[in-house]
Amino acid sequence: MSTDLLAGLNPPQLSAVTWPAKSALVLAGAGSGKTRVLTTRIAWLLGTGQVSPAGILAVTFTNKAAREMHTRLSAMVPYNLRGMWIGTFHGLCNRFLRAHWRDAGLPSTFQILDSADQLAAIKRLLKSLDVSDEKFPPKAVQGFINGNKENGNRAAVLSAHDPYTKKLIELYAAYDAQCNREGVVDFAELLLRSYELLSRNAALREHYQSRFRHILVDEFQDTNRLQYAWLKLLAGSEAAIFAVGDDDQSIYAFRGAEVGNMRSLLNDFGVSEPIRLEQNYRSVGNILAAANALIEHNDGRLGKNLWTDAGEGEPIRLFDAPSDTDEAVFIVDEVKALAREGWSLADMAVLYRSNAQSRVLEHELVRAGLPYRIYGGLRFFERQEVKHALAYLRLTANPDDDNALLRVINVPARGIGARTVENLQLASREQGISLWQAACAGGGGRAAAKLGEFVRLIESLRQRAETLTLAETVSLIVDDSGLRAMYEADRKEGEERLENLDELVNAAAGFFPDDADNAVVEFLTAASLEAGEHQAEAGEDALQLMTVHAAKGLEFDAVFVTGLEEGLFPHENSMNDTKGLQEERRLMYVAVTRARKRLYLTCAQSRMLHGLSRYPIRSRFVDEIPVKLLRILSARSKPVMSRPGSEKAPWLADSPGMGHAPSLGGFRLGQQVVHPKFGAGVIVTGDGSGSEVRLQINFAEHGLKWLDLRYAKLETV
Ligand code: ATP
Ligand code: MG
Repeated sequence: MSTDLLAGLNPPQLSAVTWPAKSALVLAGAGSGKTRVLTTRIAWLLGTGQVSPAGILAVTFTNKAAREMHTRLSAMVPYNLRGMWIGTFHGLCNRFLRAHWRDAGLPSTFQILDSADQLAAIKRLLKSLDVSDEKFPPKAVQGFINGNKENGNRAAVLSAHDPYTKKLIELYAAYDAQCNREGVVDFAELLLRSYELLSRNAALREHYQSRFRHILVDEFQDTNRLQYAWLKLLAGSEAAIFAVGDDDQSIYAFRGAEVGNMRSLLNDFGVSEPIRLEQNYRSVGNILAAANALIEHNDGRLGKNLWTDAGEGEPIRLFDAPSDTDEAVFIVDEVKALAREGWSLADMAVLYRSNAQSRVLEHELVRAGLPYRIYGGLRFFERQEVKHALAYLRLTANPDDDNALLRVINVPARGIGARTVENLQLASREQGISLWQAACAGGGGRAAAKLGEFVRLIESLRQRAETLTLAETVSLIVDDSGLRAMYEADRKEGEERLENLDELVNAAAGFFPDDADNAVVEFLTAASLEAGEHQAEAGEDALQLMTVHAAKGLEFDAVFVTGLEEGLFPHENSMNDTKGLQEERRLMYVAVTRARKRLYLTCAQSRMLHGLSRYPIRSRFVDEIPVKLLRILSARSKPVMSRPGSEKAPWLADSPGMGHAPSLGGFRLGQQVVHPKFGAGVIVTGDGSGSEVRLQINFAEHGLKWLDLRYAKLETV
């Protein structure tokens, strides 16, 4: 079996897969087979009997990657893989804390706060402490807390001289106290808790150190300090760490990831030399050449040589659209054309730098009736109605969960006003009890009667849930909480929301917990950890939309990298310092290297973003790609702004300046012109006639622009 497994690997891949039981670092560029090597190594270790599934811990970057790895391994080896720990850092720490909740000082039903929940908890805290959220913006407080947690620092070890930081430290401490009281854990806390527990509990540490013989980490360049420290602790002196990564794809420095961990690994685990893989199996030559040329502009790289024997392939297509709508229509038309040629939609991806860009695209996709799927955007588990239902579910598992209680205490409206809630909060603070306990304590008057009804509702849900399956419980909640009735009465958005609630029941029905007695908690955990990752309708062929960050590690036959404009990509927040710009360039490198066969780069000359019209200039990243690799696409007919919905392929895939040169308002294609603002350029294409002629000009300094001859003052050279 293991010979089959190894067939087709190139020599350095083979040596990495069959590396002896000691630590190693595979340092290699995009598409060189790092993930494949890592998966194959696990299969090889198991297949050759060197380790049992329980001796393996593997860290992947997303839950999706973990599931894929699991599936692939199940097909490769005839073992039950249950005992194997494969998952993201968060997922693995969650598993660890679930097993040792008592030692970790957590309730057995502890719940996870996702980033939005965490922000809500911080807002609530600021309010209860009467701290101005103008002076201390909740997002800034959140950043301070998470940044410190990711560096392993509790509030107690921090100190400051300036009053502002002092206050932040105080808020951090109060926030942790609030979370402890409520039995909830944020993402950064999952890791820090696990790390602290392992460091202070020698017996536990030794248990895991002797259990995990092999620790394998994908996308190692994006681990932060705490994650590295956690791995080191788990590895002890015996385990072998096998890490694969690419410094050129480090895209989480803004979140504290440290490429320096690669050097630490070499030192700490006695690895003499990284293993290098240089053959790229993913992309055709032109795409690889573009990626290589682009990343050359960064300095301080560890250096790599990537080559392919796949042939040059097609040129990279560049389309500079008059507007963001034109850009979206172009993409939709191209996708349709490719689909007609037999490309599958799921093998095409549209990537964008910022989530906000997806709206226009979605609009055009919906209009064209093209099925699409968004990763990490409109997350199913983040939709309002789903979060409401989940909050009820959380209360059935743990009524002391204050976040959940606040979310639904008056949803649907049941006459519990802000005043009543404030009184509850006051009582909870004064007596150090949860809001639920405060609500149960009751009192007199009308408010208490309403609260009593709510308490009885939750009690009854809790009781009945004990004898129901997970799906039945969710269904009961949707009906009895009043959520269904509330959305039935909402004519505007209700229908879609009800569909989502039904979908939630479906999700619960399709959920298989590890421990049936703990199904509710496991389901809630999966919902928090996997938000957005499996909203797709199973089996449907759909175009993939996602941010560049979310595309890491994935590959597609055709990729559209969109919004290539200064200020958008590179992002305006990172444009002005070298470090930020280099991270943006690595992000662009990640984007470009997702493509197997065909790569499109698109940008627009006007764009609505955050409610404002912008007229950006083309991204420098486009100019960093050698022109000989590009084919410039241009509109055959009028741009969509004035184009009736034509079904004919409106885009001409010809190089500029070729063929006939018809006269356009007195100008010719290929002619050199000078514009007072943009300087010298060459006419690439044009459209219109009579007095309404527009020209697309490639300006030496400003890239491609569409100009309307009624306004533009052009001079010939
Ligand atoms: P990234 O840096 O983007 O995460 P990677 O280095 O992890 O990339 P993989 O995703 O493992 O690369 O591999 C890229 C593609 O090349 C995959 O489709 C993989 O199956 C294929 N591949 C890797 N090695 C070989 C090989 N020896 N023969 C054929 N195909 C290979
Ligand atoms: Mg990979």
